[in-house]
Amino acid sequence: MADSRTEHSCEIADKCSFFERNEGLNNTIRTVRKIFCNGQQKNHCARYEVYQQLGLDKVPEELMPFDHLAADSLVEAEKKAPV
Ligand code: SF4
Repeated sequence: MADSRTEHSCEIADKCSFFERNEGLNNTIRTVRKIFCNGQQKNHCARYEVYQQLGLDKVPEELMPFDHLAADSLVEAEKKAPV
């Protein structure tokens, strides 16, 4: 399979569970790759937001790249949680 990454590729593309979890949803995967992973909207990906704020291990498998409400709630809850 050809590598479709570009210079804008997200640095966690090889570790992001979104693709494995959504295997078979080809149109969704193609769109996410085009807009977020390989596009210039990486910083607008909800999964990337959680990765940046909390770390890769805190990115829920089920989090969709366009679900900013869930990402913001998760980040807020983690930051409020007692250490
Ligand atoms: S879905 Fe988001 S976090 Fe995952 S590789 Fe694409 S841009 Fe990065």
